[in-house]
Amino acid sequence: MTTNHELFERARLKLPGGVNSPVRAFKSVGGEPFFTARADGPYLWDVEGKRYIDYVGSWGPMIVGHNHPHVRAAVARAIDDGLSFGTPCPAEVTMAETVTRLVPSLEMVRMVNSGTEATMAAIRLARGFTGRNKIVKFEGCYHGHGDAFLVKAGSGALTFGVPTSPGVPAGLADLTLTLPYNDLAAAERLFEEAGSDIAGLIIEPVAGNMNCILPREGYLKALRDLCTRHGALLIFDEVMTGFRVALGGAQQHYGITPDLSTFGKIIGGGMPVGAYGGRRDVMSQIAPSGPIYQAGTLSGNPVAMAAGLAMLELIQAPGFYADIARRTNTLSDGFATIAAECGVPMTTNAICGMFGLFFTSEKVETFAQATACDTALFNRFFHGMLERGVYLAPSAFEAGFLSSAHDDAVIAQTLDTARDALRAALK
Ligand code: PLP
Repeated sequence: MTTNHELFERARLKLPGGVNSPVRAFKSVGGEPFFTARADGPYLWDVEGKRYIDYVGSWGPMIVGHNHPHVRAAVARAIDDGLSFGTPCPAEVTMAETVTRLVPSLEMVRMVNSGTEATMAAIRLARGFTGRNKIVKFEGCYHGHGDAFLVKAGSGALTFGVPTSPGVPAGLADLTLTLPYNDLAAAERLFEEAGSDIAGLIIEPVAGNMNCILPREGYLKALRDLCTRHGALLIFDEVMTGFRVALGGAQQHYGITPDLSTFGKIIGGGMPVGAYGGRRDVMSQIAPSGPIYQAGTLSGNPVAMAAGLAMLELIQAPGFYADIARRTNTLSDGFATIAAECGVPMTTNAICGMFGLFFTSEKVETFAQATACDTALFNRFFHGMLERGVYLAPSAFEAGFLSSAHDDAVIAQTLDTARDALRAALK
């Protein structure tokens, strides 16, 4: 049998850090990652045969659990007809019709291959449409690895302490203005000073890359108004929240209409897919109907579209989101209760299908609060959970994800494990 350790040794010789995406390497929590052999429902099994209850869900896509038979069957049917055509295919049209129906702010949509591609294209479009160069993002928000976004970024960039990456030209970074999340006065000041230069403001409407932070009451609406007043486009990055916090995403949950939105993860059903879309007058500026260029050899790939469409069918089941929301609350309240029993300060944030645990006594609403939590305790807790067969995201700065396969029994087992793991972490 190949062990996790042997595979990591081999991987490290040929892949930078042994991985193809940084947070997978366990650098922030310490130790070595496991290598997954297969996945089903709420579980992963590593190459040594150990089973884990999985709260990462492939970093978001797996909202119906791993390896769902409906998605698998759709992929198998699509594969029979070929892997890629390079011409338009019917599934792309169905996909466009489906997502524009589920997310009403999308009057038109363009399919791409990842969340990063979607956000990069969206800001190019915002710049081309407005004729302005500056964009606004929020400290601790992550929008993929495009140059313009690796300025005070979240996720792996934050985990590894290089929130602004070397290799991003200063001239380009200067065009990215950053704001503290949930601080409306700061946004108002910035727009007062620079509003006429701002092409667009991009935000995770629920932040999931500095742990999980919810927008304050009225915050998103106030940002909507600011953008409208100053002629900047409001871009909701719903790569994580889209089809997760509600069928119509965070924009439906909070009742806000952005000008543009970006998607990834769930929309591809586990295949590499992203999308961006929004106002018809803005989207019409994209080539070939307009002059702003964006393209992709594999965009709208028939197999990926089949997986995504099958996923979008499943999530429209009646009660799908109500069930996940209820279980998300059971889990996050359960964590808080256990911490209280153990005398450990912990607060939690939760919204349908997403949760965050913070080792602090404060309600966490800002980046500064998230980064001030006890990460050493989180790391011990993470490893205690992992040893006992529960896989949380391997960083204190990532949100946790639930799926419809995380039933009440799985959640109860998780909480029993958490009690043991937390006690052990305190010794
Ligand atoms: N935007 C958000 C909010 C994300 O969470 C991510 C990835 O985690 C991205 C964009 C980038 O997506 P991808 O990793 O598919 O390029």
